[in-house]
Amino acid sequence: MTADLLARARSGDAPSLSRLISLVESRPQELDAVLPEIHAAGGRAHVIGITGAPGSGKSTLVARLVRVLRGRGRTVGVVAVDPSSSITGGALLGDRIRMQEHTLDGGVFVRSMSTRGALGGVSRATVDAVAVLDAAGWDDVIVETVGVGQDEVDIMRIAHTTAVVSVPGLGDDVQAIKAGLLEIADVHVVNKADRPEADRTAAELTSMLTLTGPPGSGGWAVPVLRTVALDGTGLDELANALAAHLDWLQASGELARREEAAAAARIRAIARDLAVARVQSPAAGAAFEACVRAVARRELDPHAAARSLLDARPLETV
Ligand code: GDP
Repeated sequence: MTADLLARARSGDAPSLSRLISLVESRPQELDAVLPEIHAAGGRAHVIGITGAPGSGKSTLVARLVRVLRGRGRTVGVVAVDPSSSITGGALLGDRIRMQEHTLDGGVFVRSMSTRGALGGVSRATVDAVAVLDAAGWDDVIVETVGVGQDEVDIMRIAHTTAVVSVPGLGDDVQAIKAGLLEIADVHVVNKADRPEADRTAAELTSMLTLTGPPGSGGWAVPVLRTVALDGTGLDELANALAAHLDWLQASGELARREEAAAAARIRAIARDLAVARVQSPAAGAAFEACVRAVARRELDPHAAARSLLDARPLETV
C-alpha cells in the first residue's frame, strides 16, 4: 500500500523510501493520495544544493561532506541529478561509486535521478524526491546537480543553501559567472585547492562578490571557501558555513521568503505540466489533432488553439 510507504520510510525503512521515490518519479495515480501527507510532513530538513561543472569534484565533495555531517550526528539524504545516466543507464553504478564508504550506514541515503521515466522532467522528479526525503525525516538533504541549464537553476530554488563549486585553472573567466550561478550561490567553494591556481580563482570570486556590493545590515556575506575533496581539507569549514547560513536564514526571516519563492516555483512548474498534459491527453487527442491541422493551414492561430484546448477540458491530475 502506497499510504504505508511513507510511514515505513519515516521509521527508517530504506526499501520503502526507495520505492516511494520511484513512485514520485513515475507518478502513478495511486500516488495522489499520499502527496498531501508528504507535503504536510516536510519542512524540517536543511536542503543543501551543490552545483558546479562536470569534473569539478562535486561527487567527491558530497561524499566527504556526508562523512562530516554524519560525524555531527546528522542523517543525510543525497539526490544526485546525473544528466548522463539517462544515456548510459549508470544511475546505480553512479550511486555505488559515489557513496561506497556509506553503503552500510543507515543514516545515509543516496539516490541518482535520471530523466528516464520522469513525468514532467527531471526537475520535478528531483524536487519531489527531496520532498519525500524531507517528509521521511532526514536532517540534511543534499541535491547535487551539474550547473547548466534552466532546469538546474529551477531545482536549486528549492535549496535553502546553495554551494557553487568552481575549480582552479579553467581560464580567466570566473566559471560561476559564465554559468549564471553567481546569483544563486550562498557559499562559493573552490575545490581542488591543492592546485596552484586556487588562490587566484578564490581571489577572482571574492572580487566579483565585492563588485556586487557588501551585504546590507543583517545580510549574508557569501564566503569563498577552499577545499580539497580528495583528502577532506576544508570540509569542516564547508559544513560550518552551510549550518551558519541556515542559522542566518532563520534569524533574518529570509527562510520564510525562500520557502514562498520555492512554493511559487513549484506551483508554476506543476501548473505548466498540468496544462501540457491536458492539451495532449488521450481524451483531447482528436481536438488536439484538429487544432494542429487548422494551425498548419493558417485557419487558426496557435494562441487561440492552445487557449481553446485548455478551456475545453476539466483539470486533471498528472
Ligand atoms: P564531478 O563530476 O563534479 O562529480 O567530479 P568528481 O567528484 O567525479 O571528480 C572529478 C575528478 O576530480 C576525479 O578524478 C576526482 O578524483 C578529482 N578530484 C575531486 N576533488 C579533487 C581535489 O580536491 N583535488 C584534486 N586534485 N582532484 C580532485
